[in-house]
Amino acid sequence: MNAAVSAAPTVPSSPHVMNTYGRLPIAMSYGRGVRVWDVNGKEYLDALAGIAVNTLGHGHPKLVPALQDQVAKMMHCCNYYHVPDQERLAQMLVERSGMTNVFFCSSGLEANEAALKLARKYGHDKGIERPEIVVYEKAFHGRSIATLSATGNARIQAGFGPLVEGFIRVPVNDIDALKKATAGNPNVVAVFFETIQGEGGVNPMRVQYLRDVRALCDEQDWLLMIDEVQCGMGRTGKWFAHQWAGIVPDVMPLAKGLGSGVPIGAVVAGPKAATIFQPGNHGTTFGGNPLAMRAGVETIRIMEEDGLLDNAARVGLHLQTRLLTSLLGKPGVKEVRGQGLMIGIELAKPCGVITQRAADAGLLLSVTADSVIRLVPPLIMTIAEADEVAAILLPLIEAFLAE
Ligand SMILES: *Cc1c(COP(=O)(O)O)cnc(C)c1O
Repeated sequence: MNAAVSAAPTVPSSPHVMNTYGRLPIAMSYGRGVRVWDVNGKEYLDALAGIAVNTLGHGHPKLVPALQDQVAKMMHCCNYYHVPDQERLAQMLVERSGMTNVFFCSSGLEANEAALKLARKYGHDKGIERPEIVVYEKAFHGRSIATLSATGNARIQAGFGPLVEGFIRVPVNDIDALKKATAGNPNVVAVFFETIQGEGGVNPMRVQYLRDVRALCDEQDWLLMIDEVQCGMGRTGKWFAHQWAGIVPDVMPLAKGLGSGVPIGAVVAGPKAATIFQPGNHGTTFGGNPLAMRAGVETIRIMEEDGLLDNAARVGLHLQTRLLTSLLGKPGVKEVRGQGLMIGIELAKPCGVITQRAADAGLLLSVTADSVIRLVPPLIMTIAEADEVAAILLPLIEAFLAE
């Protein structure tokens, strides 16, 4: 480490970057596996993975040379031309999802915007002039005007009205509420939700609910659109979290973990939605660029080669069991929930301070929905590393609850 780096201030400041995040006073430098180091040389165990993005951790020995090769070959050429890795990645996603066609973009909100446009055009193609889409309480779908309108969080929407219209909001896991909210409404075109809500506090949809909504969408000829941006790409131990219910959606936005750190988004569509977009209906300059496509192809290839779906299921179950054993029934602990390496610990009081305390103790995590400690580590995490997460986190929670 050179002198300039070691002399860096312990508390960085950002006078020129817009003040959009409540940042911790830590400046990151580099990572290896499930560990990262800040500019002062302090080491952290990474149970956040850049918010469920770094599927393969940091500096993966198989991913890095592939990306270096691609950077030297070509990063971008635009969609006036065929990009061979688009077809490769699309085929990989189609085979693993049971769906048929893919549109590529560069982020989660873009994938969700495309899904919302698909739903609206699906309606217009059927002669519905004012299509309406069912969305959920506590949902998070992104920060663009349309996706923040679909999001179920007044704080995210505050200051950005008028919101986009055409949404009907319902509570999670309540099929009667969904039926009641849509009864006799001929304008409904789609139901849109996350299989496990991420930002909303790690709230899983129940298996039976997922099956009931699939059946209702079939019966009513609505699109079932499942936002797998956070819970997808192997995090729960299956490629896509809804696969635990044995269902297949009509539209599935992906992003976050798909490129293991390279910005990428995708909308996967089944037969009902695969031909709604025609030339001129949608597009984005960076979408499907050779670098992002290579990252997606290599991420999936390496995940399979290294058995990371099984690893996510096994290590996730171990970690969740370990947390449950220590926390279950403790006053102040409401619930430990999630699947695979997507785990939420809900406390009875707001616990945002845990983020800084964990970082001080050498552990990166986040607190979402005010009182839910969220663990979404890289899928390469081992049992021993999961034990380390628990060993750092559990005493912090105990101390916090005793305050
Ligand atoms: C993060 C997230 C998004 C938004 O993705 P961005 O890449 O930040 O635009 C959308 N949906 C879900 C479920 C997410 O977790």
